[in-house]
Parts: sequence; C-alpha cells; structure tokens
Amino acid sequence: VLANRTALVTGSTSGIGHGIALMFAEAGARVMLNGFGKPEEIAAARAEVGRAMGVAEAPYSSADLSTGEGVRQMCAEATAALGHVDILVNNAGIQFVSPVQDFPDAKWDAIIAINMSSNFHAIKALLPGMLERGWGRIVNIASAHGLVASPFKSAYVTAKHGVLGLTKTVALETARQGVTCNAICPGFVRTPLAEVQVTALAKQHGVSEEVALTDILMEKQASKKWVEVPEVARMALYLCGPDSGSVTGSAFSIDGGWVAA
Ligand code: NAD
Repeated sequence: VLANRTALVTGSTSGIGHGIALMFAEAGARVMLNGFGKPEEIAAARAEVGRAMGVAEAPYSSADLSTGEGVRQMCAEATAALGHVDILVNNAGIQFVSPVQDFPDAKWDAIIAINMSSNFHAIKALLPGMLERGWGRIVNIASAHGLVASPFKSAYVTAKHGVLGLTKTVALETARQGVTCNAICPGFVRTPLAEVQVTALAKQHGVSEEVALTDILMEKQASKKWVEVPEVARMALYLCGPDSGSVTGSAFSIDGGWVAA
C-alpha cells in the first residue's frame, strides 16, 4: 500500500519507530531511519529494514533531534537520500520521572525539545514539499499522556499534550491540500525500554514481576497487557495508506482502555 512512497521515521533504531519503519518498508515504502544506539544495533536495524526494501541497508541519519538545527539536518539528509519525503513519522522521544519541584531544568528542556519541538521543526522543514506535490502524511507518536496526566511526568505530559495541539493545528492548515496530520496515543507498549521498568518496579516495591506489571505499571491500562509494537505500526500504516485521506486532526488511542476510565 506504500509503493512509490518515501518515509522518514524519527527514533527508528529501536522500539516503536523501528517497528513502524519495518512495516512501512514491507509495505513498499523507501524509508530513512534515525536515532541513537550502539553501532552494531544501528547496523542491524539498517540491514533489517533494508532487506524489506530490497537493498543492503536503509538510509540513516544520526542527527540529534534536541535542536532545530539537528532536525533540519535530518530532513535535508532524508531529502537527499530519498529524493523527497512523502511521509513523516515523528516518533523519537525520551522520558524522565521526578516531582515537579525537583524536575531538573535540563531534563525539562530536553523532553520539550525532543518530544515536542522536534515535531514542529520536522513538519516545518518537510511540509512545503508535501504541499507542492499535493500529497503528504504526518503521524505524530504522542501517548495516553497526551490526553491524561500521571504524577511525576510533568515534562512528558506537557510535551505530549503539546503534540496533540500541533497535530490539530497542522491538520486544519493542510486539510484542503492533500496532506493529513494525525497522532497516535499508545498506552504502555512492549519495548525493551518499557520492559526494564517492570524489573525495576518489582525490585523497588519488593513484589513479583507479575504484580509489578499488572498492579503498578499497568494500573491504568485496563487490559493489564502490553500494547504490541506491530499494533501501533499497523495503525500508522493505515494513517499513511490509501484509505485514510479524510482522517486528519485526530488522536487515536491504542491503550488497552486507559483513557476510557
Ligand atoms: P525507545 O527508547 O525504544 O525509542 C526511542 C527512539 O528515539 C530511539 O531510536 C532513540 O535513539 C531515539 N531518540 C531518543 N532521543 C533522540 C534524539 N535526541 N535524537 C534522535 N533520536 C532520539 O522508545 P519507544 O518506547 O519506542 O518510544 C517511541 C515513542 O513512543 C516515544 O515518543 C514515546 O514517548 C512514545 N510512547 C512510548 C510508549 C511505550 O510504552 N513504549 C507509550 C506511549 C508513547
């Protein structure tokens, strides 16, 4: 469904972004990867996504998205490697947990920059080309924390709420020009980074990993089960495919019932 499309997926060296990049490549898109990681992990991700594209390795930008300059550099590299960018998935993100009065300024700035402002800078850089061609798809990976809050995640919750505001505004500005802009709001998704939290919580509270998962980490996720990466990727694929041209400005929850409560 993405034959002849090009896509840039930020933060795609691991987790959700990697899953989206792989599914998009399998669907026929030429995909550029971005993100940090050990050299061998990046090489493996490039080879795996490249295989799905029928090439030795997928193009990759090592740009740091914590500055506008870094985001613009990534967008320029993507345009050079792919010719143009039809699909932008803003996925890169980080987390930090602390009471608001103790929240380190540098962590606040980094989370706002990477989780929210990078979306703005990438859209600003790539939207003109989409408008020129009369077709574009923007998917922002927000979070259940874009819709509701949890204590100790002030920067993350603020950034993800901001992403939903940006999503709606861009959708309104582009609604008659062949471009859509939507957000996905996952609950807890099974990624290596999220899974280590279970072990840490079990240790911290002196309970089994099963109790740490269902009663602590998944307290608000009614299903008490991880959302799986391919579920999120499939939703992103739908939003970038041929059957969703009228879907814009929306936030799609995929959270095991979290925000239903
Ligand atoms: P992850 O840590 O596995 O992946 C994050 C990616 O972002 C990595 O590729 C990392 O290298 C990249 N990244 C981080 N800082 C960067 C920077 N400064 N510049 C460029 N790349 C950078 O995490 P994930 O769980 O796959 O999360 C992906 C997105 O999904 C994030 O925006 C996160 O907030 C969101 N999300 C995750 C969950 C979950 O439970 N895992 C739930 C809701 C939302």
